[in-house]
Amino acid sequence: MEKVIIVGSGCAGLTAAIYAARANLNPLVLEGAQPGGQLSTTTMVENFPGFTDGIDGPQLIINMHAQAEKFGARFSYAEATGFEPLNSHIRLQVDEKEWLATESLIIASGASARWLGLENEEKLIGHGLTSCATCDGAFYRNVPVAVVGGGDSAAEEALFLTRFASRIYLVHRRDKLRASKIMADRVLAHPKIEPIWNTVITRYIPDEKGEMRAVDLRNVVTHEERELPVACVFVAIGHEPNAKPYSGKLEMDKDGYLITKRLVESKHPGVFIAGDVADRVYKQAVTAAGAGCAAAMEAERYLSSLEKH
Ligand code: NAP
Repeated sequence: MEKVIIVGSGCAGLTAAIYAARANLNPLVLEGAQPGGQLSTTTMVENFPGFTDGIDGPQLIINMHAQAEKFGARFSYAEATGFEPLNSHIRLQVDEKEWLATESLIIASGASARWLGLENEEKLIGHGLTSCATCDGAFYRNVPVAVVGGGDSAAEEALFLTRFASRIYLVHRRDKLRASKIMADRVLAHPKIEPIWNTVITRYIPDEKGEMRAVDLRNVVTHEERELPVACVFVAIGHEPNAKPYSGKLEMDKDGYLITKRLVESKHPGVFIAGDVADRVYKQAVTAAGAGCAAAMEAERYLSSLEKH
C-alpha cells in the first residue's frame, strides 16, 4: 500500500511531491500523458517569483523534478485511468491495467489547452503559437498577433495583448462573441482589437526559422480565403480538465473541473486536488504550486490522523 500517490507532474504535482517527500511520505508520482504539464510547452516564464530574469518553462519543471527526487519522490511514466474510493483506502488504476492501493491521493492532473488540430501545430508551439497570453504576450511587442476564439478566455487574452501588440485580430468562427457582455463590449470597443468574424484559420505559415509569420484564413460564410501576417497566434478555444477517471465519483462542475472545498479537499477523505484540474480562474504556475503545497500538507495531516486511530 502506498502512503500517497500524486497524479500529474506539472507545477502542482511536483510541488506536492517536494512537500510530501520532505515530510518522509515517499510519494509516488504518476507523470501522466504530458509529463511536466503545461509549463513544459511554454518558453520563458517571467512571472514565477524568484527568477529576476525569468526561467525557461521546461527548465523550471526539470528543477522541480530534481528537487522532488532529491527528497525521495519516486516517478513513474504512467497515467491514472481509473479511480475507486473505498472506506479503508483508495484504489487507482494505472494505464488501464493494474490497480494500485494508496492511503491518500493528490490529483494534480491539470488541464489541457484545446488546439486547432492544424498541420505543424506541435512544432510551432513556443514559436509563435501559444495558448497563454499572460505567459507569452510580452514577447510580441509592436507586432500584429491573432487570438482565436470567442469566449471569455479569448476576450481576456485579446485585452491583455493590447498592452504589447500593435494590432490584435480576434478570429472567431461565428459573428457573435460567446464571451460575457461586459467582456465582449470591452473587446469590441478597443481600438487595437479587430474582430474577424465567421472565420477560421486553415493553415499556419512559419518563416524559414520556424517562427510564425502568417496564417491562412477562410470565411466560413463566403468561403473567401486570404493570408494574414501575424507574429503569434494565441489559441483560446477552451481548456479541458484532465479529470475523466474521477467522473461520477468526485464532484465536478458542468465543464468537468473538479470541485474543491477549503482549497484542496474533495468530498472523499484522503483525496486532495490541486492545480488546473480544479482551477478555471487563475490557471497560473504559481497558484498551482501553492495548491500543490496545500494538498501535500493536507495529505500529511490526514495520514497522521489515521495513525492516531
Ligand atoms: P468557451 O466559453 O468554451 O469558449 C470557447 C470559444 O472557442 C467559443 O467562442 C468557441 O466558439 C470557440 N471554439 C471552440 N472550439 C473551436 C474550434 N475548434 N475552432 C474555432 N473556435 C473554437 O471557453 P473559454 O473562453 O475558455 O471559457 C471557459 C469558461 O471559463 C467559461 O465559462 C468562461 O465564462 C469562463 N471564463 C471566465 C473568465 C472571466 O470571467 N474573466 C475568463 C476566462 C474564462 P463558439 O462560440 O462558436 O462555440
